[in-house]
Amino acid sequence: MSTSLAVRLLNWYQEHARCLPWREHPNPYTVWISEVMLQQTRVETVIPYYERWMERFPTLASLALASQQEVLTVWEGLGYYSRPRNLHQAAQIVMNELGGKLPQDVRHLRRLPGIGRYTAGAIASIAFGMDEPALDGNIRRVLARVFDVRQPARSQAGEKRLWELANAHLPPDQAGEYNQALMDLGALICTPRQPNCAECPLNNTCKAFSLGVQAERPVKLNKEPVPHYIVSSAIIQRDEQVLIAQRPPHGLLGGMWEFPGGKVEPGEDLISALKREIREELGIDIEVGSAYGIYQHAYTHFRVTLHAFLCKLNGSQPHSIYHTEFTWAKPPSLKNYPMGKIDRQISNALLNLQETFISAP
Ligand code: SF4
Repeated sequence: MSTSLAVRLLNWYQEHARCLPWREHPNPYTVWISEVMLQQTRVETVIPYYERWMERFPTLASLALASQQEVLTVWEGLGYYSRPRNLHQAAQIVMNELGGKLPQDVRHLRRLPGIGRYTAGAIASIAFGMDEPALDGNIRRVLARVFDVRQPARSQAGEKRLWELANAHLPPDQAGEYNQALMDLGALICTPRQPNCAECPLNNTCKAFSLGVQAERPVKLNKEPVPHYIVSSAIIQRDEQVLIAQRPPHGLLGGMWEFPGGKVEPGEDLISALKREIREELGIDIEVGSAYGIYQHAYTHFRVTLHAFLCKLNGSQPHSIYHTEFTWAKPPSLKNYPMGKIDRQISNALLNLQETFISAP
């Protein structure tokens, strides 16, 4: 990108930069939190979560001192739960080992949990004014179009080329503004569908625009079909309480609470799968009663259809085999336990329909 083109981009940014809460009083902590929240998530979705987070954890020190359960509760609904776990762990490392200050350079930033190449570049450039590139989804799309990158953007060759382009045209001492200008251009003008090329400050040098191939850039990798899992879950009732269990600390929904259950294996029906899962996870036999609801959710790499059943213990007492711990909770107190989307839907339904308990098996 020629200097004049970078200048045009920066001039456009001065006039059109989005007003975002993390840009009001930026500091390394707010830049870090916002950049992690924005990974794979739209700005409009992030704003209320960011504001709630800053009310609850206004400083890096307050985050480090919180419990993991508090952190997961404030994050609940934003998805990708390894992100808050990593933020929490990284905050503790910064407080305990780095004198309470985030490192300024990319190499040291990347040693912290959850900080990859993009987040490190964004923090180093925006918070510390370092001449570092950043490559998020918006920047990837703008660069792939301006330079007509023909390799799939998510392929190894495409990634390499795009990082080179992101780095090659950084204006000295203005990398933070430049990176944010590209992000905003991608969000406001060079949108995935129907980019507004007529209003774009880069249109007279954009190769995709001159070739009329904007819609084909960035080139996508051929996607594998997304697996679809059938899952059954147990709402195990005792008196007016239900049993919920905390998932192991790592992996999908790590540290979150759930109604126990699991995948239906080939050849199994929903109820035998549920009885097997509960025996494996909690060491107990259950009586499976009426179907409670069917829930759908799409994760990044697979889809789930979950069938929930009202159940009762059959004699013996549960103990945690797979889970970190379990507890019996009345529906109104379920809000105190961080949960993924489907389990929260079940919890809310239990809260709204307490007469459900009458129809238990
Ligand atoms: S001219 Fe069109 S395709 Fe090119 S960067 Fe601008 S909005 Fe995107």
